[in-house]
Amino acid sequence: MRFLADEMLKKTARWLRLIGFDTLYLEKLSDAAVLEKALMEERVLLTRDEELAKQAGKLGAAVLLLPQQGIVEDLGKILSAYGLTPAFPEKTRCPECNGALLDVKLEEIEGEVPEGSRESSKRFWKCSSCGKVYWEGAHWKNIKRLLDQIDEHVPEAKGQNVA
Ligand SMILES: [Zn+2]
Repeated sequence: MRFLADEMLKKTARWLRLIGFDTLYLEKLSDAAVLEKALMEERVLLTRDEELAKQAGKLGAAVLLLPQQGIVEDLGKILSAYGLTPAFPEKTRCPECNGALLDVKLEEIEGEVPEGSRESSKRFWKCSSCGKVYWEGAHWKNIKRLLDQIDEHVPEAKGQNVA
């Protein structure tokens, strides 16, 4: 399952990458170019634009219309629509560029990690595309917290039964 997020969904796109989903985000594309890209790459178009969603539907592109809501609602809706489970950090992609992350040893990237994080982190990653380095930093807790919120919002997102 791969996604193409429209221009209004930058934050949603970053979060989708973080929780493991291949998500394209391109700014300043015309609607026609967005639709062509979604069709060519067989990506689900995520959009807040009703008109664009209608056009996508007419062209036979997969599309999910997201009402103007928060990030928890966006992600909950996407996960439940396609029966997906977040795969953080196993399949996390680079939130900056959507590149795949490679497990790396601290020795390989030591200079790029702040001293305080070198010992507190057990795992390190490097983007195979833009080279950005990631570790279990302060964001880690925020990501976990958001995933918990999504779980509460959409219990079926993790395949649990709803009482
Ligand atoms: Zn990257």
